[in-house]
Amino acid sequence: MSIRETQPLEIRPLMVSRVMEIDWPDGHTSRLSFEQLRVECPCAECKGHTPEEARIITGKEDVGLADIQPVGNYAVQLHFTDGHGTGIYTWEYLRHLGNVRKGPER
Ligand SMILES: [Zn+2]
Repeated sequence: MSIRETQPLEIRPLMVSRVMEIDWPDGHTSRLSFEQLRVECPCAECKGHTPEEARIITGKEDVGLADIQPVGNYAVQLHFTDGHGTGIYTWEYLRHLGNVRKGPER
């Protein structure tokens, strides 16, 4: 898929409900909790360089989103209120997270 096809139309961080809504060009809307985004942080520190190195992150139910920074036109870097902010979430990764959470789409 090209960048244009995978780039979100809009990203809406809902601070009160701690959910990030993402509208995709194909009409799908992903709803990702801040907790899920934090637990699934793709940075090397959290995921390691191999599956064996990956850490299991828990206890982030109350984590908030402190900042969102665009990375080029392919990703966003999310800074969380627990002080962690090295994860770069590509559009493909965000879309993947939205799909695994809800199971098969209708
Ligand atoms: Zn991380």
